Amino acid sequence: MKILVINSGSSSIKYKLFHLPRRKFVLKGIIEHIGEKGSSVQDHYSGLSLILKKIPAVDLIGHRVVHGAQVFKEPVIINETVIRKIRQCCAIAPLHNPANLAGILACKKLLPGVTQVAIFDTAFHQTIPDFAYIYGLPYKYYKSLGIRKYGFHGTSHQYVAHEAARILNKPISQLKIITCHLGNGCSITAVNKGKSVDTSMGFTPLEGLVMGTRCGDIDPALVTYIMRRKAMDIAKVEEVLNKESGLIGISGLSNDMRELSTRAHSHERARLAIEVFVYRIKKYIGAYTAILEGCDAVVFTAGIGENQPDIRRNICRGLFSHLKKKPRVLVIPTDEEFMIALLAHRLMQGGK
Ligand code: ADP
Repeated sequence: MKILVINSGSSSIKYKLFHLPRRKFVLKGIIEHIGEKGSSVQDHYSGLSLILKKIPAVDLIGHRVVHGAQVFKEPVIINETVIRKIRQCCAIAPLHNPANLAGILACKKLLPGVTQVAIFDTAFHQTIPDFAYIYGLPYKYYKSLGIRKYGFHGTSHQYVAHEAARILNKPISQLKIITCHLGNGCSITAVNKGKSVDTSMGFTPLEGLVMGTRCGDIDPALVTYIMRRKAMDIAKVEEVLNKESGLIGISGLSNDMRELSTRAHSHERARLAIEVFVYRIKKYIGAYTAILEGCDAVVFTAGIGENQPDIRRNICRGLFSHLKKKPRVLVIPTDEEFMIALLAHRLMQGGK
């Protein structure tokens, strides 16, 4: 079965084609600058038309959808009801879901006879228990606005956790795994018996670890304090927290960990940014080891996790010195698109 995986963003569409169950990767590509001034690709429909010209006929399409709220706990076959519900989720994911939906609608028009499946970044984290996803806010906001921890990067955490079990040659149902997705966006997940039981990102991807440009955990009172002191409006403070903080905010140099690592010996704030980054991850791994009541493996993945041994070494230094049985530390390249293809294929085979 030929499965096309679509990751439709606001100005780009990434695609990958797989053959399953042979687990064979066929081709990949990206269309960029969609809708931008001077671009020849004006919308997602034209972008997808270009993609479909480059690939052979497909049997199934798997779409990455960022936010499934509490509605989508599993991959689903896309129909009118699903489209309506994904549209409803746009309210809490205004930056991502509209672009994902644009990709779905374009495929529906261009390939009306082909089954489409939606795979949600949040779905893997729907097993997190209420005491871990409820914030210490008035409960009515959870009921009326859906305010709770959702978590993201779910497909990546799920993929590397399963790969870890395969490498350790044990059923995932017997393992406690901590997965660290360290890219530009960073998140960490506690996986117990194959299920996510806590994760560092929250209602939005801003919570948790210090990231390339996002601040991660801060004192929430700082938001209004900074707004008052700097006379900032809501849009500006959101921009500061999402785009001007994290590694770039602390270092004043770059959000790129490669550059910071090269400069750390001579640039004081590059060194500091890396230390803050590493410290936060270490703290979360410690906390997740406690809630899992042990840990069999720590997995590193994504740009920094896969490629920067110095960062991994600093995170792991002394981390488990108190444990009798030390967890295995694994580096596993993530493949979210392959996981999407796998989940879409599995759904068509009746969930096995
Ligand atoms: P994104 O969240 O944008 O997918 P990536 O997973 O590509 O991010 O990770 C980007 C981060 O990984 C950057 O901080 C970059 O410096 C770091 N990195 C380190 N080594 C590499 C490498 N060989 N290739 C890509 N990114 C790397």
